[in-house]
Amino acid sequence: MRLLWRIYIGFFACTLLALAVTSWYANHSLRRFYQEQVASELLTRAGILANELQSHALDKEAEQIDRHCKEFGRLTQTRVTVILPDGLVIGDSDQIPSGMENHRNRPEIAEALTGRTGKAVRFSDTIRRTLMYLAIPVRRDGAIVAVVRTSLPLSVIDWTLHAVYRHIAFGGLIVAVIFAVIAFCLARRISRPLDDMRRTAGQLAAGDLRARVAMPKGEEMQSLARTLNQMAAQLSERMETITRQSDEQKAVFSSMVEGVLAVDGDGRILNLNLSAARLLDLNPDHARGRSMQEAVRNIELQNFIAATIAAGGPAEAEIVLYGNEERFLQLHGTALTDPTGRKFGALIVLNDITRIKRLETVRRDFVANVSHELKTPITALRGCVETLSDPTQRNPADDNRFMAMMGRQVERLSSIVEDLLSLSRIEHDAEHKRITLASGAVCDLLRRAAQTFAKTADTKGIEVEVECPGDLAAPVNAALLEQAVGNLIDNAIKYSGERTRVVVNGTLTGNDIEIRVTDQGPGIEKKHLSRIFERFYRVDQARSRALGGTGLGLAIVKHIALAHGGSVSVESTPGQGSAFTIRIPRH
Ligand code: ADP
Repeated sequence: MRLLWRIYIGFFACTLLALAVTSWYANHSLRRFYQEQVASELLTRAGILANELQSHALDKEAEQIDRHCKEFGRLTQTRVTVILPDGLVIGDSDQIPSGMENHRNRPEIAEALTGRTGKAVRFSDTIRRTLMYLAIPVRRDGAIVAVVRTSLPLSVIDWTLHAVYRHIAFGGLIVAVIFAVIAFCLARRISRPLDDMRRTAGQLAAGDLRARVAMPKGEEMQSLARTLNQMAAQLSERMETITRQSDEQKAVFSSMVEGVLAVDGDGRILNLNLSAARLLDLNPDHARGRSMQEAVRNIELQNFIAATIAAGGPAEAEIVLYGNEERFLQLHGTALTDPTGRKFGALIVLNDITRIKRLETVRRDFVANVSHELKTPITALRGCVETLSDPTQRNPADDNRFMAMMGRQVERLSSIVEDLLSLSRIEHDAEHKRITLASGAVCDLLRRAAQTFAKTADTKGIEVEVECPGDLAAPVNAALLEQAVGNLIDNAIKYSGERTRVVVNGTLTGNDIEIRVTDQGPGIEKKHLSRIFERFYRVDQARSRALGGTGLGLAIVKHIALAHGGSVSVESTPGQGSAFTIRIPRH
């Protein structure tokens, strides 16, 4: 039940009780007061009659006395009875004395016969009402000669009291109504601020930390409201701090490049950041709570985590993940400890070292490739020199052939070294932003490049066409770009069959200048396309070498395109030809 009604009912019950007690007390006092009044009146009237009877010869003048009683009774509206000491009734205002029974044993008569005033309240069978009887002795010469009894019906009192009660009840009703209203107002005054506070506490509990209680009247309520508001303010402040800290931590956690993974003692994922999710190919929302075994099927990682949990100390390892592509991860593991120092799991930091690994591989391969590339001509040279310097092997007739071979090998060595130097210079200059770009006419540059290889093309009966709108201009390093286009034209001529066509196109596409070298050569199989721009990568080693290729031509093209902020790509259909495209931005 609501507090308002509980207080209200309490108030109202108290009011009704107070009214009931007051009424009962008033009733009791009034009844006593009226009875005393009736008794005193009866005594006065009995006294008057007794006085009158003192001089009468009671036994002889019975009839006269009876008449006097009737007269007296009529005048005073009181029933009067005169009884002789033996109980015989000789006069009565209402009845015929001869028909009345002996009254000696009536309590009030018996009392009066002892000389005192007798009083009794009794229901009268004669007149069928409750009466008050009062009897006093009539004395003559000290002896009791008769008893005078007066009586009045008490119903008069009841009538009077009923009238009074009606007034009291009416007054009580008005008081009760007034009190009901006052009690309601009072109850509401007490319960309303409490209701307010209850509502506010509910809002706070539901998470609305901005909810505050309006200041009520009354010192206690105000202090309660103030305390509640203070509590809410503190709660809100703490929540803000906690939320901010948690947000900051989350931001740090999710912005980390390193993957972070927390697992409990049973190998269940407690938390992981975005990087870890990405590296392990997991959905961070679904991964939490799952065991590592089912989340990541990699035995090396599982073993590492198990070992870190078991050892409880720092651990380090490198693992390989086999997904869509191979990934190398460096793992650092430490024990997770709670504030009491108890270990409850492991924290694993994952570093993606795939790029470093690849670079290492590239570097290793590069060194191996360079050594290999240099070794071949050097071995050939050494063979020639040994043959020429050994008189037992030397045949002067072959000298010219050996000299020519040595010349070719030296040429080859010098091409390799030249290409390597060229590549390293471009890389170095691009890295240090030393490549200067100036607005240049692209078409002239294409024609110059084509011109350089005109002779070679001629020997194979290859026609090199340049198609280019005259006003095509872009910020370029003319020498480098000419070298790149030259390399493409050189390849196109080198690998194409005789009497084919090589087309060099210069076009403007959107914001880019596109330089496309198309040939009708053998084309390149799809599996090689992603790798032909790597240093020393060749589709056909022997053919490339035989044609004097160093395997560095396309790598140089790629780095020149990159140095211009552009790119290079290839489309090729085996048996039909290839098209290499350099794309550089116009601005
Ligand atoms: P290379 O000095 O061997 O030509 P490149 O870097 O210029 O080295 O080219 C790499 C490889 O790509 C070549 O060995 C060749 O197999 C292939 N290639 C390049 N251009 C063409 C082309 N136009 N047609 C067919 N194959 C080509």
